[in-house]
Amino acid sequence: MYKSCNLILHGLCFFSEMIVSCCYAPNDKINNGHPPILFPNYKGEIITKEQLFNRIKEYSSQFKNNSCPQECEGCFKIENKDWDEGEYINYITITHFSSCNADCIYCSNCLEPEERTKSEYKILPLLKYLREQGILGKGLELHIGGGEFSIYDECESIIKEFGMDNSTQIYIPTNAIKYSEIIDKSIKEGYTYIIVSLDCGSRKTYKKIKRIDAFDKVIENIHKYNKGANPNRVSLKYIIIPGINDNINEFKKFLKIAKAAKIKHIRLDIEARYLRSVNNCINPYYIKMGKRMNKLANNLGLSCELYSFFQQSLSKISYKDRIKNFIDYIQLKYLKKGIKKYYTNHRY
Ligand code: SF4
Ligand code: SF4
Repeated sequence: MYKSCNLILHGLCFFSEMIVSCCYAPNDKINNGHPPILFPNYKGEIITKEQLFNRIKEYSSQFKNNSCPQECEGCFKIENKDWDEGEYINYITITHFSSCNADCIYCSNCLEPEERTKSEYKILPLLKYLREQGILGKGLELHIGGGEFSIYDECESIIKEFGMDNSTQIYIPTNAIKYSEIIDKSIKEGYTYIIVSLDCGSRKTYKKIKRIDAFDKVIENIHKYNKGANPNRVSLKYIIIPGINDNINEFKKFLKIAKAAKIKHIRLDIEARYLRSVNNCINPYYIKMGKRMNKLANNLGLSCELYSFFQQSLSKISYKDRIKNFIDYIQLKYLKKGIKKYYTNHRY
């Protein structure tokens, strides 16, 4: 038994220019905020089993020797348990592409939409090779990130390879602006889950957030994807964006849409740019709002997941952050100022 993490042993994450272990980076100041880097300057080459696990072991052996790679220090994924050190990969994140047909005000991609096709390489040749080598076994999870997968040029071939049977769970966040037949087929015949970040219940708010007029199309596509699908294969997400959709009325409209599409599960999150600006210390105003939203969803028979940012511990809040939090709280609750300033110029 020792402290380590599944992703350092069995994870791969594809960034635009490198392969890393995961997409978590607990230390902003170490290695430019990157997680452990396995292959820098990666551009789609085949990597042999030996090369792959030699690199993985350089990091995982540090955990085994009761140390920790500096990139991983403080990571919430570290656990103390008996680890299977077998040479296989069970968790892949594909986030090396950035093209998208929306332009959300909270997108972490700082490129202008027309620039977002750059730095792409083909990923399927390596995935197929790793599968042939027996490295990608049963129980594999594929997590998609990056831009919009339905318009990514390897979407169809990746789904055909991995998404038509029960061997691989695929998680696809999609804006659902484009309806994809292959994704739909995979939801129904494979083991694929989609998460649609709708974030609102009205066309007006949708346009403010996504900066495209596609609300009606998205609702239509949510109905199509969920028709005949297993419960929970299609879920809707509501990211609370300070000053934009942080009101219960908008959320009630969102719930109405979810009910009409027979969605059973929703996810609630808080916007990451706001979160960073308050040093990960969520304002009690939003915690309260999240709890109320959770209750409203449950009352309508929807299960509600308080997503990543709501799960963070509030115990490590510094005195300075507490004061900042308090001032934000007064402004939000009593002066109704909102925090629109974060989204006025939405590029980082
Ligand atoms: S400990 Fe955290 S940062 Fe390190 S590989 Fe695991 S998930 Fe990534
Ligand atoms: S849909 Fe996703 S990738 Fe596209 S702009 Fe919005 S947040 Fe970015």
